[in-house]
Amino acid sequence: MGVCDYVPDKAPKHEAATCPLCGSTHVALYPNAVKGAGFNFSNVNRAGAFPGMDLAGAWKGFGLCVDCSDSLYVFHHHVLNQFVGSVAGEKALVFPSLVGPEEAKARFLTDWKAYVDGVQAGQVKSREAELLEFCATREDAQVVTQILWAKFGQDVDDVRGCITDILPSRLQELIGHNKAANGWSHALAPRQHLDEGEFDLSLSCLRGLFFRPGGKRVTKSNASQRLFELKRQIMEALYHGQQLGTATEAVWKEVLATVEAYLAEAMKTGKTGGLLREGAGAKSGSAKKPWTGTFASWLRHVARFLYYLDCAEVLPMGENDSIYTPRMEKLRPYFEKGSGIDSLEKAFAFTLGVLYGKLLQVQAARRVSPALTWLKRLNLSGRDLPELYVKIREKLLTYGTEANEGVRELIRELGELGARLGDNISLGSVPTCYFLLLGQSVALEILPSKEKGETA
Ligand SMILES: [Zn+2]
Repeated sequence: MGVCDYVPDKAPKHEAATCPLCGSTHVALYPNAVKGAGFNFSNVNRAGAFPGMDLAGAWKGFGLCVDCSDSLYVFHHHVLNQFVGSVAGEKALVFPSLVGPEEAKARFLTDWKAYVDGVQAGQVKSREAELLEFCATREDAQVVTQILWAKFGQDVDDVRGCITDILPSRLQELIGHNKAANGWSHALAPRQHLDEGEFDLSLSCLRGLFFRPGGKRVTKSNASQRLFELKRQIMEALYHGQQLGTATEAVWKEVLATVEAYLAEAMKTGKTGGLLREGAGAKSGSAKKPWTGTFASWLRHVARFLYYLDCAEVLPMGENDSIYTPRMEKLRPYFEKGSGIDSLEKAFAFTLGVLYGKLLQVQAARRVSPALTWLKRLNLSGRDLPELYVKIREKLLTYGTEANEGVRELIRELGELGARLGDNISLGSVPTCYFLLLGQSVALEILPSKEKGETA
């Protein structure tokens, strides 16, 4: 197919210019070359997108010479598929840009060909997952990687975002962080392995970590561009080795929105088992259900994700870890470095969360409706914690649960913390909710059900 077949007469070619792609001088530029080759970037096929809204000026925006047009066409139809992978759980073009001297480029192409042959011979398990791994094996002076999220159909269309110039050395660093995070042995680390929660170079776990349960009710928010953009920002910070900065707030906002979705589900069904126990639901394995674990599983994965972002120096946790060592032995491992519990306020929220988790468990055992409304749809801050503490204790007294030695020990711990903090607990809504729920999701490990003396 020649260039003339897809350049409409309406947008005139421009004679004797310099091609922006290959640099050839005194060549004719064809304004529809990019679209004709099957790339619909920034609506190149719409007249309104042309510079000055003038069809005659179309070549200025997207004009290419005949040779480049043909190469681009061939690339799209015969090569592009080799470079389409999945990043952050969404289809993306993972494209190495060769830099450096000719011999380095030649070496890359030889290795690449061997890699592609390996894919065709079935030696590479998952091409989508391993594209970035291949790039990571290169040298910084040889190649940088570009990522572009778009729809890959007849045309490459609907570009959603991109990340440019990722260095192989940074990918290597991330491989190390992935390995460390997958093997994290903290008390808060996930106990149950979930495929979708594992760290890999393309961070496919982002899909599940920010996925809200709730079916049709949340379809829109799961597919929102805002959520996608946040995942892109996280990837960009990770791939470039930069701090998340102003995007940090959005990370917490989306985490809490996801928590809310889980709680809404629990309130709808009245079942709190998933809040208290790790576990995986029926695996549908479909794109519709990128997360199969329970809320407790999810929250442990979030805790590990935050640890990962800290290790990768993208979202530092702060240096104040282990500011408080609980008296209660069973609590101690949860306060070790990596938990993010870096203030007495957070320690109180977490410990109260454990007590709250115990209450939910007792209520489930007694088949009474769980006290989920006490979370005020997550409109809670540190100031609300003393009141919540009183409410939880009143209920536990009614149930006779305070006879449980573990519960008594936990209450003593809270008393100790409360005495040091006073009634005015100054803690923002995000950490209050996060640490409270983190505590509740591990409650059964600290206070297992059916202990001696428990009447529930
Ligand atoms: Zn050219």
